[in-house]
Parts: sequence; structure tokens; C-alpha cells
Amino acid sequence: MAHEWEKLIERAADLVRRGQRVVVFTGAGVSTESGIPDFRSPGGIWSKYDPEEFTYQRFVSSAEARKKHWQMLRDTFLSYQAEPNAAHYAIAALDRMGKLDCVITQNIDGLHQRAGVPPEKVFELHGTMDWAYCLACRQRYPMDEVKGWLAAGVEVPECGTCGGTLKPAVVYFGESLPSAVLAEAKERSQNCDVFIVVGSSLVVYPAAYLPEEALWSGAKLIIVNLTRTHLDGRAEVVLQGKAGEVMTALVARLG
Ligand code: NAD
Repeated sequence: MAHEWEKLIERAADLVRRGQRVVVFTGAGVSTESGIPDFRSPGGIWSKYDPEEFTYQRFVSSAEARKKHWQMLRDTFLSYQAEPNAAHYAIAALDRMGKLDCVITQNIDGLHQRAGVPPEKVFELHGTMDWAYCLACRQRYPMDEVKGWLAAGVEVPECGTCGGTLKPAVVYFGESLPSAVLAEAKERSQNCDVFIVVGSSLVVYPAAYLPEEALWSGAKLIIVNLTRTHLDGRAEVVLQGKAGEVMTALVARLG
């Protein structure tokens, strides 16, 4: 068994060694070992909240809905004191080895940058929780400032300049992805030779089209995930396990 696993790690390492442009695509599973739950695993965020309640349309529809949203954010993303984990550091190590073209992430937690991946190499498809912005005048506010207002008892933060609705700078269900970021991510997926998925169920579109773009363009696919995905059958190597352990083993084999 251990021997089989070593063989899989070596196969993945060999692909990365030979690769010229390696894209790493991450989802919520890369950050669960940092203490941020994913959406769909048992105990994940959608086991406590109804995703239907947290759409863009609901958010803009009423102050009552916005109150619920901010309450959920206070209880989840805004309360995590997360640090990068071994998987984030291993991905940053790939960059120091000169292997990393970019990280395309669905995450909104900023942990790749904090682990040392240069910000210009991180494409955040679903935005970032570091900022909020006004839907009316577009003024941006650091989320730490907004958190201060929430801690002081504000339930639905509003823009200090125009009184408009403040929304986290993340992409909600029902909202479009930032087009320039998506276009660049698509181009890099089409031009890479190795595409590594780490911790994504690959069910959230359009992000989940990117590994397919990479496959259509001839890239080799490596999947690192705790559970199976619909692309496992098309992957060169599937490493079913914890992102931190698997990515550390992969980078150690390269080193
Ligand atoms: P998902 O919740 O649909 O799936 C996460 C996947 O990661 C699952 O298949 C699970 O088996 C796997 N996983 C969990 N822990 C793992 C581990 N330690 N090692 C390896 N795999 C592990 O998440 P998704 O596909 O990323 O899509 C959901 C959406 O959720 C994304 O759009 C993202 O924006 C958002 N989200 C982000 C965060 C974050 O920023 N950290 C957290 C929750 C959700």
C-alpha cells in the first residue's frame, strides 16, 4: 500500500519535474487544515446554512436579508484566525523552485499570498474577504475596519460616504466572476502543461471549467483531494488524501 502511494507521488513529481508551466488550482479543501471549513464536506458551512439564502439577489433584496448575511459572515469567515498550512507552504515552495506559473484559487481567504506566493501570481476567481465595497459609489473599505463596526454593534454596515449598501468583495452565487481575472486564468489554464487541482470538489462553475480547458489543451492533470471528483478518470495521477500531507510529500520528492 505504502509502496503504491510512493509510486503515485513519484509519478506526480515526475510530471512536475518535466513540466515547464505548472498551474495549481485550489478550492476550499486546501484551507480546511487551517481551520476554515469547506462548504460541502460533513460539518461544512452548507451543513449549517442554506445556500439558497446566500445569493446576490437575496443580499440586494432587503436590509433583513443583509442582516442575515453579515451575521453568517461574522459567525464564519470573519471569525476565523487562520494561518497558512503545509499545503499553502508547499505550493509556495513550488514557486521558489521556479515551477509555478500561477495559483488559480476559488478561495477568498488570502492564505496563498500569506504563505509566500507573490500576489501577482494568485488569481482569485471568487474575490477576497479582505475588502468590502459600496454597491452604489464603489468606495472600498478594509474588512478589518468593517469588522470593527460589527464588533461595536452595527448589524448592517453602510458606506460612510454615501450611505449605500456595503458588500464583501467576494463573488456571491448569482454574480459574475471578475472578467479580467477569469480571462487570464483561462489563458493560463490553456497554456500550462501540468494542472494540479488541490482541494476542490470541482462542482462550482465556471471555475470548474478550468481543469477541462487545461485537459483540452493537452495538459496533464493531477488531482489532490480527500474525495473523488468527476475528473478523476481523466487525471494522470489522483492522490486521494489530505492536501497538507500530499503536497508536502510531492515537494519533498521534487527537492
Ligand atoms: P467544496 O466545499 O465544494 O469542496 C471542497 C473539497 O475539498 C471537497 O471535495 C473535499 O473532499 C476536499 N477537502 C476537504 N478538506 C480537504 C483536505 N484537507 N485535503 C484535501 N481535500 C480536502 O469547495 P470548492 O470546490 O472550493 O467550492 C466551493 C466554494 O466555496 C468556492 O467557490 C469557494 O469560493 C468557497 N469557499 C471558500 C473558502 C475559503 O476561502 N477558504 C471556504 C469555504 C468555501
